[in-house]
Amino acid sequence: MSSSATDVIVIGGGFAGLTAARELQNSGLQTLVLEARDRLGGRTWTKEFSGKQVELGGAWVHWHQPHVWTEITRYGLTLAESGVAADEGPRSRVFAGIDLTDQRHASDIVPQVGWVVGDEFRTGAVDDAVDRINDGVRRVCADAYGLLARPHDPLRIDVSGVESMTVRDRLDSLDLDPDTAVLTEAALATCCSAHLEEVGLLAVLRWYALSGGTPELLWDCVDRYKIKSGTKSLIDALALDAQMTGADIRLGKAVSSVSQAGKSIEVSTLDGESFVAGNVICAIPLNTMSGIKFLPELSSLKSAAIQAGQPSHGVKAWVKIKGRHEYFGAGATSLPFTWLQSEYLLGEDTIFFAFGSDSDSVDLASAESVSDGVRRLMPDAEVIDHRAHDWVRDSRSMGTWSMPGPELMSRYLHGLQQPDGGLFLAGSDVANGWNGFIDGAIESGLSVARRILARQAAPHSGGDR
Ligand SMILES: Cc1cc2nc3c(=O)[nH]c(=O)nc-3n(C[C@H](O)[C@H](O)[C@H](O)COP(=O)(O)OP(=O)(O)OC[C@H]3O[C@@H](n4cnc5c(N)ncnc54)[C@H](O)[C@@H]3O)c2cc1C
Repeated sequence: MSSSATDVIVIGGGFAGLTAARELQNSGLQTLVLEARDRLGGRTWTKEFSGKQVELGGAWVHWHQPHVWTEITRYGLTLAESGVAADEGPRSRVFAGIDLTDQRHASDIVPQVGWVVGDEFRTGAVDDAVDRINDGVRRVCADAYGLLARPHDPLRIDVSGVESMTVRDRLDSLDLDPDTAVLTEAALATCCSAHLEEVGLLAVLRWYALSGGTPELLWDCVDRYKIKSGTKSLIDALALDAQMTGADIRLGKAVSSVSQAGKSIEVSTLDGESFVAGNVICAIPLNTMSGIKFLPELSSLKSAAIQAGQPSHGVKAWVKIKGRHEYFGAGATSLPFTWLQSEYLLGEDTIFFAFGSDSDSVDLASAESVSDGVRRLMPDAEVIDHRAHDWVRDSRSMGTWSMPGPELMSRYLHGLQQPDGGLFLAGSDVANGWNGFIDGAIESGLSVARRILARQAAPHSGGDR
């Protein structure tokens, strides 16, 4: 087995890995990216469904997400708005933080909402349902702004009062009426991609604080604006930028081990190749890190964090439903889907997206299972087709987006960000700010690249700020 040498090896070609590779290569360090899959983009994946471009993974971005917004500006990309079908003229968003009443009247479709309390399916006025959700989320996150006034520095203050609390603990402590409780649970569970008792309250408080402490802006940040040309266009732009100055990006290269001896790190792949560099960035999901053998072992704090993992195990599916609808449906985490929302009108049919908090509750490969799940939130729905990727059973992601469990953030985040010799971890899962988002992945890639460049410039300083 021969080894070829380079300055930096980046393991993983998602947003974090490619951002780091672009930064390092553009700064003159020869960089090699090893990506296990046969495509770049990781937990983002732009695909076609029923003639429409859909995102099977990460989709929504916002100008309040500063790192991704910078990249959108840098590469001259534009936004499209969810729920507004350009080919159908202006349409309202059925679920919106802002009042679109006038636009709703411009539509020939009556916006509707349905939700499930116990076994009972209920309907009501859309504005009332949205108000209930916003009220519930406001109360769940009431202390967010005080606790996380600088959310990009989440451990700056003492969070010991809430660090062990789960989202469920907080929700259950509030005296919400049954309709508001279910609608709020549905919205939060959709954000959490897990059961509420699995996710640390701090994770949700951080989202809320990053959104300026208002539910309206939170929804705008997390499910309103997407990149018009697809998330893939930003991944492609990053990769091309890195390659233009000489980065070597290789697909189908699953890393199996990382061995560090002195100032040299050897990275070996499953197909028997090995590469050597002075610095290595491991930019893979936290839940997959135990698949790589690290020698010497990672710090005990990192190993403990990897063993704990992050709990997201939800689903996202695209569903084509007969008829023209403007609708959202909501349900508790006991249902296969917690959220169903119309996205595109397509002639006489409508394309919806659906989220659920437990991939064991719905078989994404089964039309019947998906249809049954959808009909819990929209009993008359006639599901024609669907498309989804099972991110939880995919060995290269083993989860959806990072939602730190209780104490994961306060106990491990800082340790995960510290290098072991020349080895750095990167990724959305270890980001400070929009952890779990494309923005967080870019933030982390930028931070790690800066630290490696600082070390190169002043080898004895450590560069570990
Ligand atoms: C269903 C879903 C919906 C989402 N929605 C949004 C959203 O609307 N907005 C938003 O901002 N974010 C969203 N996200 C989250 C966002 O997509 C991720 O946080 C972000 O893309 C993670 O980037 P990353 O580079 O940290 O990790 P990844 O994208 O996971 O990249 C890691 C890369 O490492 C590779 N890899 C893994 N193991 C190895 C190995 N052993 N050797 C080599 N390579 C390896 C993987 O194949 C992958 O390409 C969503 C995610 C999912 C799954």
